[in-house]
Amino acid sequence: MTSPPGSAHSAPDAVVVGAGPNGLAAAVVLARAGLKVQVLEAAAEPGGGARTQELIEPGHWHDVCSAVHPLAVASPFFSDFGLAERIRLHTPEISYAQVIDGADAAIAYRSLARTAAGLGVDGRAYRSLLEPLVQGVDQLLGLTMNQLLRLPDDPVAALKFGLRVLEQGGPLWNMRFKEYHAPALLTGVAAHTPGGPRRLVGAGAGLMLGALAHAVGYPLPAGGSKAIIEALVADLQAHGGSVATGVRVNDMRDLPAARAVLLDTTPQHLLRLAADRLPAGYVNTLGRYRYGPGAAKVDYILSGPVPWANPELAKAATVHLGGTREQIRVAEQEVARGRHAAWPFTLVAQPSSFDPTRAPAGRHVLWTYCHVPNGSDRDLTALITTQLEQAAPGFADLVVASRSMSAADYARYNPNYAGGDFGTGAVSLRQVLARPTLRPQPWHTPLKGFYLCSSATPPGPGVHGMSGYHAASLALQEVFGLPVPDLAP
Ligand SMILES: Cc1cc2nc3c(=O)[nH]c(=O)nc-3n(C[C@H](O)[C@H](O)[C@H](O)COP(=O)(O)OP(=O)(O)OC[C@H]3O[C@@H](n4cnc5c(N)ncnc54)[C@H](O)[C@@H]3O)c2cc1C
Repeated sequence: MTSPPGSAHSAPDAVVVGAGPNGLAAAVVLARAGLKVQVLEAAAEPGGGARTQELIEPGHWHDVCSAVHPLAVASPFFSDFGLAERIRLHTPEISYAQVIDGADAAIAYRSLARTAAGLGVDGRAYRSLLEPLVQGVDQLLGLTMNQLLRLPDDPVAALKFGLRVLEQGGPLWNMRFKEYHAPALLTGVAAHTPGGPRRLVGAGAGLMLGALAHAVGYPLPAGGSKAIIEALVADLQAHGGSVATGVRVNDMRDLPAARAVLLDTTPQHLLRLAADRLPAGYVNTLGRYRYGPGAAKVDYILSGPVPWANPELAKAATVHLGGTREQIRVAEQEVARGRHAAWPFTLVAQPSSFDPTRAPAGRHVLWTYCHVPNGSDRDLTALITTQLEQAAPGFADLVVASRSMSAADYARYNPNYAGGDFGTGAVSLRQVLARPTLRPQPWHTPLKGFYLCSSATPPGPGVHGMSGYHAASLALQEVFGLPVPDLAP
């Protein structure tokens, strides 16, 4: 899959540092435009936050970071790239569910109508909140998968979204609901973004992910997240590009001469490379860029499927643990204040229930993680096992093996995850608008030919390739005078 640096690729037009989903998306766009592209990746294999590995025992394939991919199917980059035609996706009947307590759960089916029917007295209110976003999902993605500080292409869609964000991101968030299931469902999906759900940013991300649950579902790639990376690398190589692994770029001298350099890395990495060549104001702004909470993960090998107290949850791609809206809010607020939550909001994905290639017959892999303070080295195996036992009595008896990865482990695993922050920067209101700087094209840097393309640029975290797409489109225009190419298979 990979080749050494230099050799056949000694004079690239463009170099991409980092082979995460954004770096590879950038590389594909540039190579498709006819440029010679070299990707340099520090790790032993490409993929960044989308690798799938035999972490515990042979034959059991765990997603090391991302596992569930509504953004990958919905993103304009991946839809132009035709991801769904290139890899097989398993899209479960239930996108996600929120466990309240034991068998009591709220469920987001792919069908909005079925979801609303299950939410009883609040079904109509939930539907009226999400239906306009589901129906206008392309306009919603056009708005959110880009720099937010610009005139929206569709002001009506922006207004519908904005009003809902104001409602769900502030003190009025319970206004339309009478009971606790629908609020818990919405809070769980908002809490994917660390920092607390009752905030404009959490509400915005949550409403988008909530709408995607009904518009496209929550797909799991057959073979794991690495299938997305393999599709990107294959396309890059088919267009003359290459990926060199085990190459960490620490210094300008590590970069081959090229007209454009795209960094799928942190703002601090750009400072390390070139602080002396950047204007003082820009250096100060990047120096103020902040990181958010970390992720602590536990992967399991099980001798059977999770024995959910509510059997319907076996059909869900993702299950959220952590209780009611208020319980999730308190847990996430604790983490945002730098403390471990006593009963965390925990995300669970059960890929082998839908994809038999992930584990030997009779066995299952289970992916779980929660948010913890930045830099935490705490192993959360006992706590997450207790949470799972509460939602699925008998769970602990099925555990064959487990493996913990603390936030500190994530920081060592990927230089982009400072302190274990998998968003490559806190997702605060300030850092959504200025990611990492407040300018119309934040991918652009003052250093000629250099662009940032990681999730430290809009639209932020997630496997959507859009940061890479925007940065590469800009480089094509500014450095090479080329249009964005066709990306179709
Ligand atoms: C536990 C967890 C669960 C997640 N779940 C999901 C999910 O279900 N769905 C989803 O959409 N997203 C999820 N994410 C987030 C997602 O993985 C990231 O947002 C995404 O991978 C960001 O892509 P990227 O290309 O910007 O950066 P990354 O994927 O971080 O890739 C950056 C790459 O650059 C390389 N690099 C960095 N510095 C250098 C250097 N100096 N020299 C050379 N190479 C370098 C790194 O090794 C890495 O390979 C999850 C993340 C974690 C940790």
